[in-house]
Amino acid sequence: MKDDCIFCKIANHVIESDYVYEDDLVAAFRDMSPAAPTHVLVVPKEHYAHMADNVPGETIAAMAHAVDEIAKAEGIQESGFRVVANSGPDAGQVVHHLHWHVLGGKRLVDDFA
Ligand code: 5GP
Ligand code: ZN
Repeated sequence: MKDDCIFCKIANHVIESDYVYEDDLVAAFRDMSPAAPTHVLVVPKEHYAHMADNVPGETIAAMAHAVDEIAKAEGIQESGFRVVANSGPDAGQVVHHLHWHVLGGKRLVDDFA
């Protein structure tokens, strides 16, 4: 855990959040500034900066499983959703702990989150 990292703290319950899914490797919680009716962040409990930080396959698989569980629980499995992983400056990444945005519950085709 990286001491100055907000998502390390949330994923490991040092700071509590509005969780929607959790297992040994990942936590998922609602974005504090939602861009869609469903806007959940999926984060690993270990610290990785972004998608190009040698993230283990086991962690990626756990994140993908979390997306599946969240889509079903949020009722957006059929209507559709978007998964976004901003990585680095050109993507506008603000929080430097790997996270996948899961966005759904409205038409997203004209948006680019
Ligand atoms: P990105 O780094 O991909 O640009 O986005 C970071 C996201 O994290 C933003 O959508 C922002 O609203 C969300 N966020 C930042 N800090 C917190 C926090 O402390 N709690 C929650 N729930 N969301 C956060
Ligand atoms: Zn972190």
